[in-house]
Amino acid sequence: MRDRVRLALVLPDLLGTYGDRGNVLVLAQRLKWRNIDSETVTVLSDSASVPESCDLYLIGGGEDVAQVAAVRFLHRGPGLRRAVDRGSPVLGICGGLQVLGTSFVTGDGVRHAGLGVVDAATEPGSGRAIGEVTTQSTLGGVGMLTGFENHLGRTRVGPGSQPLGRVTRGIGNGHDDAEGAIRGHVVCTYLHGPVLARNPKLADLLLEWAIGEPLEPLPDPPELRALRAERTRPHVRNRK
Ligand code: GLN
Repeated sequence: MRDRVRLALVLPDLLGTYGDRGNVLVLAQRLKWRNIDSETVTVLSDSASVPESCDLYLIGGGEDVAQVAAVRFLHRGPGLRRAVDRGSPVLGICGGLQVLGTSFVTGDGVRHAGLGVVDAATEPGSGRAIGEVTTQSTLGGVGMLTGFENHLGRTRVGPGSQPLGRVTRGIGNGHDDAEGAIRGHVVCTYLHGPVLARNPKLADLLLEWAIGEPLEPLPDPPELRALRAERTRPHVRNRK
């Protein structure tokens, strides 16, 4: 393992509307609890490019306009794509999912090419999906995931990827009861929360992929256990 884990927070000035930058704080803290040093590399939209040498990449969600600016920035350089090809884990949330997918259509009807590191295409739904989501993850050892969603886009996962999980409450991708998309070590989800604060097993799986070795388990805090037991109803149900 390297002496410090480099966590890249990609474009939080564009895709950081829903507090997704909290995910990087969770990762750094979970490393610290295990006496592993980390460094957060923040890639802002006025940076030259995304460095390809980081161990783990995080992209959050945001408004359509910000998403379009983000995808333009990411298309300019090969850094993120090279990191994916090397097997570095990437977590994309909501707008981040859409940007990492093959294409997305914004609310104004314009189609944009995504980075295509997951096989997932997004088009607008007939209303926003807003509320709590629970999903049964297909990732080994991760189990149930919880979070909240707030998005217009509906996403179809193509044959080159698989859903992150099956929705048991809420909307998720809005097709086939699927939630999110994964390909290799790229994990995309509609779950805000921040998702890693609410789902530490997912946080640890990403960290294990990043450092290439298993981590000692940590106990869940009591408030997290209470949150996971809570059966909060979604504010809006829209299964179109
Ligand atoms: N703008 C996208 C949508 O509405 C993503 C929103 C988000 O990241 N929460 O579908």
